Amino acid sequence: MNTKTLPHVVIIGAGFGGMEVARGLAKAPVRITLIDRHNYHLFQPLLYQVAIAGLVPSQIAYPLRTIFRKQKNLTFQMGEVTAIDFDSRYVKTEGSIIAYDYLVLAVGGQTNFFGNHSVEQNGFQLKNIESAINTRNHLLNIFEQASREVDADIRKAMLTFVVVGGGPTGVETAGALAELITHVMAKDYPHMDLKDVRVLLLEAGKTVMPSYPDELRKATNDLLRNKKVEVLVNTKLIDYNGRQITMGDGGQINAHTLIWTAGVKAAEMLDALGVEQAGSGRVRVAASLQIKDHAEVFVIGDAAYFENGNGQPLPMLSTVAIQQGKVTAQNIKKMIKGEKPEAFHYKDPGLLATIGRNAAVARIWGLSFSGFIAWLIWVFLHIFRLIGFRNRLLVLINWAWEYFFYENQVRLITKE
Ligand SMILES: Cc1cc2nc3c(=O)[nH]c(=O)nc-3n(C[C@H](O)[C@H](O)[C@H](O)COP(=O)(O)OP(=O)(O)OC[C@H]3O[C@@H](n4cnc5c(N)ncnc54)[C@H](O)[C@@H]3O)c2cc1C
Repeated sequence: MNTKTLPHVVIIGAGFGGMEVARGLAKAPVRITLIDRHNYHLFQPLLYQVAIAGLVPSQIAYPLRTIFRKQKNLTFQMGEVTAIDFDSRYVKTEGSIIAYDYLVLAVGGQTNFFGNHSVEQNGFQLKNIESAINTRNHLLNIFEQASREVDADIRKAMLTFVVVGGGPTGVETAGALAELITHVMAKDYPHMDLKDVRVLLLEAGKTVMPSYPDELRKATNDLLRNKKVEVLVNTKLIDYNGRQITMGDGGQINAHTLIWTAGVKAAEMLDALGVEQAGSGRVRVAASLQIKDHAEVFVIGDAAYFENGNGQPLPMLSTVAIQQGKVTAQNIKKMIKGEKPEAFHYKDPGLLATIGRNAAVARIWGLSFSGFIAWLIWVFLHIFRLIGFRNRLLVLINWAWEYFFYENQVRLITKE
């Protein structure tokens, strides 16, 4: 068969959505070019584990060329897509121009600082491997600095850790950070008085985990309190200069660490495409995930603005990206056969977040769980969803080690 005459599907982004489209088209009569600026797929939900020295990056990222080694109709190209010409149907990377018959934009999101440059410059974020390693280095370094600091006020500020954003990522980060300090750092720094350590979780709204049911919000608050995380709701951050946080009511907190988890928006490259964007810069898509006037272009995952019946956009979650990736692969196959693409319907698989060891909250099959059972569900689901047998095994071993010995193994300061 002359494969050159097969329709060419270009997928930009090898995150959760893009990967699912590529896999869904494995047996289809198409040529696929998958483009990503990185040569690996990243399991973002576990980035905070890298930040708190629980896992190394290679345990949550997997090389794309290895993943698709056996998929003969796919070519991977590492590169940054800089422009798209929808009329002439080609995408531009730094070094090449690639024509397409079908295009899937699965470029994901980025941290939203809502224009607060002081936080962007002086705070830490969890979005990619680099930002997670920066955070880890900083956290480990600050303990070194605090251990030799003689000024009590400065030491106190060094040992004050503020996480901003009471959604699942903020809650998970704050809980894990509190545990790192109480179980691990306390042993590493036996001569340092850790009574000054504070972990705070700041939330501008009236509750943490706003999208969770009441009983799980309450459970989250209880679990955070057990881990000695101070939760401040209705607390809006105005400014952070790297040493001091200023809040909306004028209150101030001296802290050398601020981790921002309070916002996500769609990837920057979408802003330059001239397509219709809605909330958080996401591209408005039709029911079948195509864009207006270009039935051959699909946008999925964090990059897509898709309303789910009640006028609210679907959340930026891996489960949404994966389901949209599946339907997009189906729709491309249908279009090739001359059939009409189907509408996308999200099946909510439930809610799940962990708050450190033995502690999680979950809403599955209409039932709410919290504590140890929810934590076990979380552990096994995350291990199961990691790509590659080796990664699953290593993560399981790492977590088991941490669980039984209260040791985060990756306590290496590698740069700063
Ligand atoms: C810290 C953190 C914790 C999270 N926790 C959870 C969780 O517990 N559960 C959950 O369901 N979701 C969670 N999420 C959200 C989830 O990771 C995203 O919703 C999901 O990754 C979106 O999938 P996607 O395919 O749209 O984009 P992504 O997975 O972000 O993939 C986008 C890909 O596009 C590539 N790309 C972007 N721009 C370009 C370009 N111009 N050129 C080439 N390549 C480009 C990127 O390198 C990336 O590989 C979390 C996210 C973060 C950051």
